[in-house]
Amino acid sequence: MQLEQDFLKKNFSDFYKKNFIEDPPEPEQREFGIGEFGRKITQRHLSFSSLQDFNYFLQKETPFFVSCSTALYSQPAARPMQAKGFLQGDIVYEFDADDIKTPCKQVHDSWKCPRCNAEGKGAIELCTECGTPVKVEQWFCEECLGEAKKQIFELKEFLENDFAFTEGISINFSGSAGFHFHLRGKGIRQLKQAARIELLDFLTGANLDLGAIGFVENGKSLDCPKPSALGWAQKIMSGLRDLVENAPSDKIAAIAGVRDSNAKKFLEKKQRILEGIEKGMLFPFPTKKTREFWLALAKFVVEKKKLDIDRQTSMDLNKIIRVPGTIHGGTGFIAKKISWEELKKFNAFTDALAFPQGKTVRVLIDKAPKFNLGSESFGPFQNSEAELPLNAVVFLVAKQAAKLA
Ligand SMILES: [Zn+2]
Ligand SMILES: [Zn+2]
Repeated sequence: MQLEQDFLKKNFSDFYKKNFIEDPPEPEQREFGIGEFGRKITQRHLSFSSLQDFNYFLQKETPFFVSCSTALYSQPAARPMQAKGFLQGDIVYEFDADDIKTPCKQVHDSWKCPRCNAEGKGAIELCTECGTPVKVEQWFCEECLGEAKKQIFELKEFLENDFAFTEGISINFSGSAGFHFHLRGKGIRQLKQAARIELLDFLTGANLDLGAIGFVENGKSLDCPKPSALGWAQKIMSGLRDLVENAPSDKIAAIAGVRDSNAKKFLEKKQRILEGIEKGMLFPFPTKKTREFWLALAKFVVEKKKLDIDRQTSMDLNKIIRVPGTIHGGTGFIAKKISWEELKKFNAFTDALAFPQGKTVRVLIDKAPKFNLGSESFGPFQNSEAELPLNAVVFLVAKQAAKLA
């Protein structure tokens, strides 16, 4: 693959010569890390005195992956970690489409068993024939990225409504199957670890005590938070109102584990139930299990509204993460910074392309699902030779699915 690596490096270097990378802020206080072909981090503890210095390095050395610390340090290149002098740290939440079970994975992902050689479509963990952990070939598409994007909008809503965090927010495409949400506001940066955990617990609905936020038994009915409540109390109540108003009886029955006929009878009093909710009271459920009934619905709402944020990576104060604007060496896409206005319409397969249109290159493609890139659609390929536009070639070669012909 030396030829392929040289090819990618040459193109990446051309990109860095034409595009000045404007991120990260406060570069002189961050630790940088770089990676080689197929390995995201092979070297850490690098530092740069300025963005000029950093860009010069990208043009000359052109690593395949470039990450920087979320933390700011007084001595970012010092080792070990404790010697760096931690000053303060951004919070970065990552949303990865690989972790979301979308139907499109059945189309573009495939697996193979290393033991019995069975293979199939989709992203599964264990071989359907012999139970051995399988090797999955993961791809991503507009659809799975769309799911990850939804989480970004939900996080924005959480932060604005519940914490009034609006400054210092920056979003970027990860360069592969996800998005990164950077929080760099003054208030955020000064948060101690305990407060960061509390914030994460809140966003992920962890350790939520329904009794403590106002769901308390009161005779035959159940008290609930008033419409003026905030935070999770408000989220749950709006979810419950929505279920009562719009969900069919069989859905309610399935969520709460009651008979459809009982749910139907219950929903006949919809108006009175909704009036009760406005007054902070949850209507008694006829078969006496009022508390279980409503708490099951409330838990369903929490599951739906909580955010899937990876605990480990978001809590790591010394973590390094892709520098926005740089190229992801596993796709050739730009880890593009996106404004809120752009995010809704953002499509990585047209908006994160790094290379000029027009040039084509011949490649031998081992295996690739159908994918859209630019305004064209390619594949599926299996042991095929084709002449493709440069952006598509870089994508396939970087994903190690093709070789130069
Ligand atoms: Zn097997
Ligand atoms: Zn997909």
